[in-house]
Parts: sequence; structure tokens; C-alpha cells
Amino acid sequence: MYFIQNNLERLKESIDETARKIGRKGQDITLVVVTKTRSIDEIRETYKCGQRVIGENKIQEAKSKYQSLSDLDLQWHLIGHLQRNKVKDAIEIFSMIQSVDSIRLAEEIDKRCEQRNKIMDILIEVNVSGEESKYGFRQNEVLSELETISNMKNIKVLGLMTMAPFEINPEDTRPVFSGLRELRDKVATQNIPNVEMKYLSMGMTNDYMVAIEEGSNMVRIGTAVFQKI
Ligand SMILES: *Cc1c(COP(=O)(O)O)cnc(C)c1O
Repeated sequence: MYFIQNNLERLKESIDETARKIGRKGQDITLVVVTKTRSIDEIRETYKCGQRVIGENKIQEAKSKYQSLSDLDLQWHLIGHLQRNKVKDAIEIFSMIQSVDSIRLAEEIDKRCEQRNKIMDILIEVNVSGEESKYGFRQNEVLSELETISNMKNIKVLGLMTMAPFEINPEDTRPVFSGLRELRDKVATQNIPNVEMKYLSMGMTNDYMVAIEEGSNMVRIGTAVFQKI
């Protein structure tokens, strides 16, 4: 699995170069390696290369991997839709839930975390592109919904997350990413208690360069790390 190390090195160089182009530093951009559908061995190899933050999108899959990898100090991020009846498991595994897409889900996370005496870091997922098939708050509801979520004591909002539609030409994703950045700036000026706009999680294998150019400081990348080349 030597290719994983090569892929990771090339990816980090590319993130670095893209960041530098716009006067930022690669090290300010958190790389979440998306390990969904990847094996335990592949994840261990990634860990050996120094990677600590990983992203999973399904609770069942994450739960069994979490048990097999309990010896590693990984940080697990949930990046897929979370059903309320799986929140109890999710809060045992994940250090961040990036895919909070409804008030009812936020309430359930808050309630379960209160019982477990935890504070969960979350991102608000925004459906910027407006596609029917995508989860997430609509842009124009985010501010008012954040006011509600800010009252939940066992949740800490740390930013926004979005997924752009797949585009043959990644340049076409730019309006989605600039849209989320503008929303982040708007939220930040409101100084909502308990809401910090620290992370802008956007960009995947196909479009991370455009996302970084538009202000992303958290990219979620699977394919570019695990594809055999
Ligand atoms: C799968 C997935 C990714 C990673 O996609 P790649 O194209 O493999 O880099 C990022 N974010 C989310 C929400 C995903 O489901």
C-alpha cells in the first residue's frame, strides 16, 4: 500500500501550493481523509503516514471500524446524514459531527450529550446548490436556525459544511463555495453566543482546489488518497 503514502504526499503538496497562491498556508487547512468504504488496513496505513483526522459517513460502518481501531488516537468526523435513532452511537465515536442538517437532529445530539456529560463540536451542513437530493439547511434559514441551536448547551457550533455537485469542470463549483464563504462571513458578524465560525468545510477530490481558493480551511478527501495509480 505504498501508493497511499505517495498519494498523501502529493495531495499535501498540492494543498500547500493552492493555499500559497492565495496567500495562505497549507498547514492552516485541515485535511480530513475520507475512509468510508476503505478497509481497516488502509486506515492503519494512513495513520502510519501521520494522518489523524478521518471522515466516515455511515454509523454502522464507523462503529465496527472504531472497535477495530481503538488502539489508534484517531479523530473521527461524521460527514454523512445522521438519523436521530443513531445519535446515541454517533456521540460515542465522533469528535465532530459535520453533517447537522436539521434542528431536530441538533436537539437529539444536545439531549444525548447532556446525558453523557459531553459537548459535541458540530458544523452546520448547508445545501448551497439547492439540489433536491442533498441534505442541509437552506442558506436563508441558517441565521435564524443558528439562533435556536446557540441555546443548546451541549453543542458547540464551529462552522459550516457543504458539498458541491459533481462537475466535469471543477471551476463550475465555484459559486457554491463562494456562497458558503459569504454566508460564513455574514454569520460571523452576528456574534451569536456559542457559535464560532472557525471552520469552512468544503472541497473533495474533484474540487478541493477551487474550494481552497474560495476560503475553505477543511477539505474532505477520499479518492485522491486511496486510488491506486
Ligand atoms: C465521500 C465524501 C467525500 C470524499 O469524496 P472524494 O471524492 O472521494 O474525495 C467528501 N465529503 C463527503 C460528504 C463525502 O460523502
